[in-house]
Amino acid sequence: MPKLPSYLPMRVPLLDLGEQYRALSEPIREAIHDVLASNRFILGPKVQAFEKAICGYCNAPHAVGVSSGTDALLAILMALGIGPGDAVITTPYTFFATAGCIARVGARPLFADIDPETYNISPSAIRECMEKNCEVDSEGASRTRSGEKVRAIVPVHLFGLCCEMDALHEISERFHLDLIEDAAQAIGSEFPFGETTAKAGTMGEVGFFSFYPSKNLGAAGDAGMIVCRDETLARRLRTFREHGMGPRYFHHVIGGNFRLDEIQAAILGVKLPFLERWAAARRAAADFYCAEFARVGLTGIITPLAAPYRDRGLTNHHVYHQYVIRVPMRDALREHLDKREIETAIYYPLGLHEQKCFAYLGYKKGDFPETERAARETLALPIYPEISREAQRYAVDAIAEFYGSQLANQPKTT
Ligand SMILES: *Cc1c(COP(=O)(O)O)cnc(C)c1O
Repeated sequence: MPKLPSYLPMRVPLLDLGEQYRALSEPIREAIHDVLASNRFILGPKVQAFEKAICGYCNAPHAVGVSSGTDALLAILMALGIGPGDAVITTPYTFFATAGCIARVGARPLFADIDPETYNISPSAIRECMEKNCEVDSEGASRTRSGEKVRAIVPVHLFGLCCEMDALHEISERFHLDLIEDAAQAIGSEFPFGETTAKAGTMGEVGFFSFYPSKNLGAAGDAGMIVCRDETLARRLRTFREHGMGPRYFHHVIGGNFRLDEIQAAILGVKLPFLERWAAARRAAADFYCAEFARVGLTGIITPLAAPYRDRGLTNHHVYHQYVIRVPMRDALREHLDKREIETAIYYPLGLHEQKCFAYLGYKKGDFPETERAARETLALPIYPEISREAQRYAVDAIAEFYGSQLANQPKTT
């Protein structure tokens, strides 16, 4: 019989935002009240202050508050003039919005497979994709076989771990591509870039964050932020954020309403000073999972790489937006954990190249084997800054219980 935990069963949610709010409820209520009393609801002082705070936190020259991570990418692509006749390289193993925005501006998403250890887009897969699908035209631009001009790479720092930005930078320079960082899941994550350590979002031309409530820095609704180096691009982004308007009621480009709400900025401004502490707590929880898997002897579980580039003298700072393991019999394990009231999630069950809405791109099953394998084998366990060690131990015991019974039930193989 597998050993059962010695304490009472408990319910372990994937994410619990309750404690965070209890700790900050007073300053958050005050900040909301300030906005209501000020009658400044759109692009007021709270948005300005929060943009400035993000610049300071990330060491980014410019920050533009927007309505969501999705709208951030949409505005970026519009401001860079990427549209019909263009192609943009990205990963098929990400949240839909990354490729959705590329398609919405009329450009073609060009997928490159992931690295199986980091789950991030693989630089060598991008090089292969360029060699296989693209040719350099007479003007030195890379074009796909169907004639689209390759304009940009959108790497996604998935689950809170930075992509190999040095390699991606090299590729983008070589092929004259813009590097647009999808840092929606990775605010605060770092990478040893050039001479210093840089924060996610600040290593390409432009990057963006999402403040969707469940992200590491969550708003009370939808919100996002763009960071960039170039002042002209920042000005363009501000214009696109407000219907391409400037001065008022004079529109020289077609933008949209991509504004960050004053109330959301006020709430996020209260939370930002705690982000580093929360990231450290997430890292401690990740370390504890590792120690617990070792304690119960679960050596077959592949835990997230914390510093994947250590062999090259590079350290890396994971912020564990998700704690994703790779396991055998994933779906049966998930069912077992569900019975034990331990909530898990699958990010993501289907690669974007296999999504129905992208059928017109002409990809098929088997095109991105590492993405497809990750979609079959990975499972996200509960993680958030305040998660208790008891809850984590309970989850690991339940996983050990599952594999213990599985091994006992399995016919012996030789
Ligand atoms: C959350 C997310 C987005 C979109 O952000 P929203 O604020 O929800 O619009 C984009 N890309 C990735 C990788 C995300 O996780």
